Amino acid sequence: MRAVYRSRLRPSDWAVLLEDPATVVRYHAKVYRRGPGECWYWLGAISDTGHGKLRGGTRSPGGPATRVVASHVFGYQLSRGILRSGDDGEVPLIRHRCDEASCHNPSHWMTGSVQDNALDYAERARLEGSPLTDRRGPARRAVAIRDAILAASGDVDQAIRRAIELGMPAVQGHLF
Ligand SMILES: [Zn+2]
Repeated sequence: MRAVYRSRLRPSDWAVLLEDPATVVRYHAKVYRRGPGECWYWLGAISDTGHGKLRGGTRSPGGPATRVVASHVFGYQLSRGILRSGDDGEVPLIRHRCDEASCHNPSHWMTGSVQDNALDYAERARLEGSPLTDRRGPARRAVAIRDAILAASGDVDQAIRRAIELGMPAVQGHLF
């Protein structure tokens, strides 16, 4: 599993954003929800690593200051509570069981250590059909999927499948 993001905000900073109604509304508006077992892709800005970027806070006086945060780290804490450092003093990483960096289905998230992540990545990057084998890399893959969803006028699931297949070396050109 790739999907590495180390939280740089303190738990108290996260708490402020997680309690800001405008930030929570903005977050939910950017998640493309599907069935419980499927990947829920991010519709907002995408980082260099393929993760979603969420603007937290507000520009108007009275609310928390504006800052851009990793949307899946926000979402994880929204669904499961604030991340705190473990016995080793490190804040856990949020990892994606599905290897889709821009996925926001809470059931696809888990925590782990840097070492867990590195070991898994080496194994899983060799699996045929894994998102990790996408020739475009995680950021361009996430952008392609996002743009396909936003542009789709009919069958969104099919648009997603097409966007995915275009980056997959083994199956390109065979399924459609
Ligand atoms: Zn997923």
